[in-house]
Amino acid sequence: MVQISKKALFWGSLMGLAMMGTSCKTSSKVKKEEVVEYIDYELEPVEVTANRLDFDRAVYNPSYTRRNDLLHTDLEVRFDWNKKYLLGKAKLTIKPLFYPTDSLRLDAKGFDIQKVAILQGGQEKKLQYKYEDQKNLFIQLDRSYSREESYQILVEYTAKPDELPIGGSAAITADKGLYFINPDGKNPDKPQQIWTQGETESSSCWFPTIDRPNERTTQEIKITVQDRFQTLSNGLLISSRKNEDGSRTDHWKMEQNHAPYLFMMAIGEFARSTEEWNGKLLEYYVEAEYAEHAKAIFPQTPEMLSFFSARLGYDYPWPKYSQVVVRDYVSGAMENTTGVIFGEYMQKTSRELIDNTSNEGVVAHEMMHHWFGDLVTCESWANLPLNESFANYGEYLWFEHRYGRDFADYKRMNEVRGYMNQAVLQDDAHPLIHYGYEDKEDMFDAHSYNKGGAILHMLRKYLGDDAFFESLKHYLHKNEYSAAEADELRLAFEEVTGEDLNWFFNQWFYKAGHPKLNIKRSYSDSSKTLVVELEQTQDYSQSTVFILPMELAIYTPSAGDLPIIKQIRMDQQKQRFEFPLDEAPTWVAVDRERMLLAERAEEQSKEEWAAQYRLSARFQDRYDALQKIKYDQGEEKMRKLFWTALQDPAWPIRAMACDYVKAQSEEETKSLIAKLSKMAEEDPHSQVRMAALQQLGRIGDASILPTVKKIMANQEEAYSVIYGAFKAIQQIDQNLALELAKELEQEQNPTLLMGIAELYGQTGDRQYLPFFSKNWQKTENYGAISFFGQYQKLLVAIADDNLTLEKVKTLKEIGSNPKNDLWHRYAAANALYDLQKAYFEKAPYEEIQKALKTVIEKEENSNLKNLYQNWKVN
Ligand SMILES: [Zn+2]
Repeated sequence: MVQISKKALFWGSLMGLAMMGTSCKTSSKVKKEEVVEYIDYELEPVEVTANRLDFDRAVYNPSYTRRNDLLHTDLEVRFDWNKKYLLGKAKLTIKPLFYPTDSLRLDAKGFDIQKVAILQGGQEKKLQYKYEDQKNLFIQLDRSYSREESYQILVEYTAKPDELPIGGSAAITADKGLYFINPDGKNPDKPQQIWTQGETESSSCWFPTIDRPNERTTQEIKITVQDRFQTLSNGLLISSRKNEDGSRTDHWKMEQNHAPYLFMMAIGEFARSTEEWNGKLLEYYVEAEYAEHAKAIFPQTPEMLSFFSARLGYDYPWPKYSQVVVRDYVSGAMENTTGVIFGEYMQKTSRELIDNTSNEGVVAHEMMHHWFGDLVTCESWANLPLNESFANYGEYLWFEHRYGRDFADYKRMNEVRGYMNQAVLQDDAHPLIHYGYEDKEDMFDAHSYNKGGAILHMLRKYLGDDAFFESLKHYLHKNEYSAAEADELRLAFEEVTGEDLNWFFNQWFYKAGHPKLNIKRSYSDSSKTLVVELEQTQDYSQSTVFILPMELAIYTPSAGDLPIIKQIRMDQQKQRFEFPLDEAPTWVAVDRERMLLAERAEEQSKEEWAAQYRLSARFQDRYDALQKIKYDQGEEKMRKLFWTALQDPAWPIRAMACDYVKAQSEEETKSLIAKLSKMAEEDPHSQVRMAALQQLGRIGDASILPTVKKIMANQEEAYSVIYGAFKAIQQIDQNLALELAKELEQEQNPTLLMGIAELYGQTGDRQYLPFFSKNWQKTENYGAISFFGQYQKLLVAIADDNLTLEKVKTLKEIGSNPKNDLWHRYAAANALYDLQKAYFEKAPYEEIQKALKTVIEKEENSNLKNLYQNWKVN
């Protein structure tokens, strides 16, 4: 970053004057006296390099230089809840890393510092220090120390995370490291909690440290709280002591080295449950009303620990595994060593968690970090994919193990879409290992996670499972308890396999982008030749021409579903592969494993797409094929294919088939109804049961009502299925649906509330208005937006201007109250926006517009502000 100070500007114009030898507009304003005043200042060096201005050095964020090595961190902390302060005492054991030094720099953000001393033989000796920018604590040691000597520093301080100065970056307010929730206890709807969030460099908001990913320290923390609170921190609870003043001090100790950003504390009144795995303690902390669901909230924890230990050839290395849900968390979840913190979105009942794999994915992700991230840590934020790509791929590995390859591939498809969304739609592609980032927080994007996971999958498919996992084992053992760069990963793979992998790492880790692959297949009857033409059309000046080893599978009529497999290697921009073949193929699979991270463009006949569905074992092939032919069901062959797909082994495909399946004749319709009814009751996956019910609703035959009613009465059925059944009834018998809605309201389930809102929204009946005001706070995320959308529809349908004006006030209040969460604020604003369109040039229009303007003006969240800008409200 180039900072221009007033001083530099001044000298700039002065230099201009000297070079031109005459006066000009700007320099004529310079008075002689001012020159004399500034004459002692150093000349800014930028002036002498004017002749090299054509050289633009790329931004490079290096690993931090290490002067001192932090060995042990010993903290004592108490809290002033009212002021939101942490009162701390830190004893840090440190030694110079290599060069002798007589000084130490520590990260300490927004502290009041009471004392800095060196501890020698139990005695404190005060040290000189300078505390700069409320960020850097420079300490002058009593003498110079060599790398053979360690010393102990004492810092007594008050951390004031809520009073952190807002510096150049506004991000700092969301980076306060230590969070007090409902500190005065006045909010009846929220528990009182304190929790921390260290990544990236926010641990230094609550203790002085060397807050960098390439630093590691052992740790102990003595936390003093009122006796009613529980505490949780890294490592094991060594002792818990009641104090004379009624408070309690818990002593937590972590004997293995880990990075300061992985330190954690969580304090609150939690319901705690435990179990044991391999002699290690597993703990689950949730709010009291979710106590009985704790194991469902953190599903499969012991099984996952066993799975990852075995798959990675490295036993879970830490002394315990605790997981805690906190309120108002600033991230999704964080892999603090042995103490993972999750947001409250995880807290659901066992019934709400039927077939829910998102909790499972998050639990697997954070657990995988305990090897990739906590045991081996990225050396710099540019190398963050060494943490996140593996955690992302850990989800794939777990899903593949528990649910099979199809389901893991379905999740992967969504991961790849997330990456494409950033790289293609938002036109924001950068190398995976990205030394040129603007802000370290920008590293937490769809490259480090999604793309990295997809790249590891390709590497695994290229090397084979044995070589891939043996290499990971080697990498973990070689780099345990230390920081690593991507090259260390490459070397581990090379050492195990004996194969140079620079080509792979260069294109996937160090270059931006991905192949845009054109695929053409043709067969010549006269020469009996199959031709596969491949072309990479990405802008290779911004990316590269990728080397792509892959397999082709050639299916022929005479060999049926047994393909001929060919290995090919694409290493040119455009390449043609020819194969002698006696008969025209039924289908040719290009990239048989469907492992390439690429945008594919290919043309096939309907018959080829249908053959792709029938012949391929890969989820992505079958999914793509059905998408291609879903509107061709006028043809019986294609229709029958969809009927077959209703029995696909992968549930996402069965659900998709339910959504699109068609029947033509009366007889076909009858048999489809029978088929879907059976699926609605018997399919093993709730998403398929729901999709079958929704399709039955669209078909709209009243004969299904008894079945649907039976499903709705099942108290153990997943809420999504109840929703599907309720939607079916809405389409067949609205009066019955209105009757049932009254009962469903009692469930207070967000999915069902949505279904009810969709029904009430169409009625135009004002008796349903109170439902919306009573329940909007229970909706979440996108559900909130649709919920308010239905509210808006109902108002328009009632068409009472005075009523509308009254409710506009309510919407204004919800949309502009910063205490409401972001989704609800946006949902209310969005409803006003739609209402304004509906009332265009009608009486309440101006009032609606005014209300919307107020909401927009009061919004302070930058994401929402950006969204509102596109609305063009005048
Ligand atoms: Zn992660």
